[in-house]
Amino acid sequence: MLPVNQWLKKLQFCVFPPTCLLCGAPGEGERDLCTGCHADLPRNEQACQRCGMPLASTIALNCGECQLHLPPYDRTFAPLLYQPPVDYLIKGLKFGRRLAIARLLGEWLGTALQQRQVKPPQGIIPVPLHPSRLRERGFNQSLELARPVARCLDVPLLLSNVRRIRHTQPQAQLDAAARRSNVQGAFSISRPVQARHVAILDDVITTGSTVAEIAGILKAAGVEEIEVWAVARTSQNR
Ligand SMILES: [Zn+2]
Ligand SMILES: [Zn+2]
Repeated sequence: MLPVNQWLKKLQFCVFPPTCLLCGAPGEGERDLCTGCHADLPRNEQACQRCGMPLASTIALNCGECQLHLPPYDRTFAPLLYQPPVDYLIKGLKFGRRLAIARLLGEWLGTALQQRQVKPPQGIIPVPLHPSRLRERGFNQSLELARPVARCLDVPLLLSNVRRIRHTQPQAQLDAAARRSNVQGAFSISRPVQARHVAILDDVITTGSTVAEIAGILKAAGVEEIEVWAVARTSQNR
């Protein structure tokens, strides 16, 4: 006889069969994305190893910006490009509260990370929201994306080590310089981090100012190796 959780899975499969969140066609396997939409997702295959910025060629490992100023994190993995339909999905999660999108994209990111077969970090830190933003939105999209990633890789979530102490303007409305000053001093360490190697997880990386700010305080607190994971990367530091 099947164990209870497998029966529940079968039942869920019959009542809510996987359906593509982009076009409504039947999903591929257990995923809420059809084969065609999955194949068409814009991949960020040729990217700066440090900040994830899409690169025009594979000659250099790092983009010009990182060669000039090394960011405080060591590596970035953002496997998709923030362009249609990925931007539509991420906005649907953040502003349309479609949590099924977090499960889809989080599982996708977790699988992509598993396929890299590199040493996993000792913990995942989702970018925290300020408590007032959390009350307004009702959930933290980075945490909702991080849950399936943590399950896929069997890595714990570190949820009480970093907190956002200052309410900041949404980064999307600001240019690169304003984004940096907007997040300066916005985070603090609320509990010592025992791990030496962690990953910071955000939904999208644009200029990288938010993750750089968090990485800076983590390195100052003794964390030695910091990766940045995100679903997608914009192709310009705007
Ligand atoms: Zn589809
Ligand atoms: Zn770079």
